[in-house]
Amino acid sequence: MLDDKDRIFTNLYGFQPWNLDAARKRGDWDDTKALMARGQDQIIEDIKASGLRGRGGAGFPTGMKWSFMPKEPKPGKPSFLVINADESEPGSCKDREIIRHDPHKLIEGALIAGYAMRARAAYIYIRGEFIYEAKVLFAAVEEAYAAGLLGKNAAGSGYDFDVFVHRGAGAYICGEETAQIESLEGKKGQPRLKPPFPAGAGLYGCPTTVNNVESIAVAPTILRRGAAWFAGIGREGNKGTKLFQISGHVNKPCVVEEEMGISFRDLIDTHAGGIRGGWDNLLAVIPGGSSVPLVPAAQIMDAPMDFDGLKALGSGLGTAAVIVMDKSTDIVRAISRLSYFYKHESCGQCTPCREGTGWMWRVMERLRTGEARVDEIDTLLDVTKQVEGHTICALGDAAAWPIQGLLRHFRPEVERRIRERGNDGGAMMEAAE
Ligand code: SF4
Repeated sequence: MLDDKDRIFTNLYGFQPWNLDAARKRGDWDDTKALMARGQDQIIEDIKASGLRGRGGAGFPTGMKWSFMPKEPKPGKPSFLVINADESEPGSCKDREIIRHDPHKLIEGALIAGYAMRARAAYIYIRGEFIYEAKVLFAAVEEAYAAGLLGKNAAGSGYDFDVFVHRGAGAYICGEETAQIESLEGKKGQPRLKPPFPAGAGLYGCPTTVNNVESIAVAPTILRRGAAWFAGIGREGNKGTKLFQISGHVNKPCVVEEEMGISFRDLIDTHAGGIRGGWDNLLAVIPGGSSVPLVPAAQIMDAPMDFDGLKALGSGLGTAAVIVMDKSTDIVRAISRLSYFYKHESCGQCTPCREGTGWMWRVMERLRTGEARVDEIDTLLDVTKQVEGHTICALGDAAAWPIQGLLRHFRPEVERRIRERGNDGGAMMEAAE
């Protein structure tokens, strides 16, 4: 369990104002110049030593990602930091809390991370639907400029750095890093083929790193308190604190900062008031946002909530958006609804995703009503494998994995529906009549 003294986000619930004065009292912008004076390479080394892994879902080591940026930007090719605040994954709602209650953590982090990567500017790409949050963020950036914390000689460091806020228009796919870059450039938000990776050719063809809001917002505190402090929290390979977003059938849904590796049971009992109807009533959990496979109750109850702990269960930590489902859930319908979401959000560029997401959703609907034949289950599974790993971006995987999770753990339930409906042939004849 995380001690209060180890919390990074001390205004997560907005009990205090978000503005610069209040942020300074909480310790933000405290001698930022001194942190930057450590030097760019040292900052990257400190972030590496802290063990911070990206908080946007993939869990790639943040310090290593920063180190891919060129040490000496070429003339006419400035480096950029893009901060992904598009947060559109169903279940995820942590970046929203950071931005509306603690925006200066993010802005200070943007300056420090941008400086470490020799970036000229940061672009914060905020989800279009976050209207209030965008208002707060624009105002916080203005405050920072007015106080000399951004712009020329940012925070008195001698480094010039700008922060721009860019509002998205509501497409889920713009949360994918290269689609986000396309969108920032004013084009249709469609993912790019990689390589080249953004660190080589990103925004406007210049070296770019795309980081999640939480990854950037925790950086100043890690540097202030020391890499060893952050690395002292959590388990090997899964260090630090994390914002968990608990939704669904718990008594008190919430967003909470906890240590990585906390057990699911402790997380829910301590912060979410327990499972609705008690632990016996738990059916399954989607532990990392809608794109990761579900985990049945018996397997997740005492599992550690971190990257490796959930990977071992065939799922993932993702953004730590924990969606809890009790026994009142129609699990086939729930996953079918997610299939519809991915079908709707496919950008349509590659055939397996464009055609496959719609096809998978239609079969999921037939499974939901029990109209499908039993042999269609294997066909569906086969199609998920043909989509997974065969597309330009990870949306194909995101559409395939929830279905694979459902069939891995709840196949008897899916078959029961079909049999109850009078088995395949019978059901089809009924439909024909
Ligand atoms: Fe677009 Fe889907 Fe291909 Fe991603 S996988 S590029 S969303 S069609």
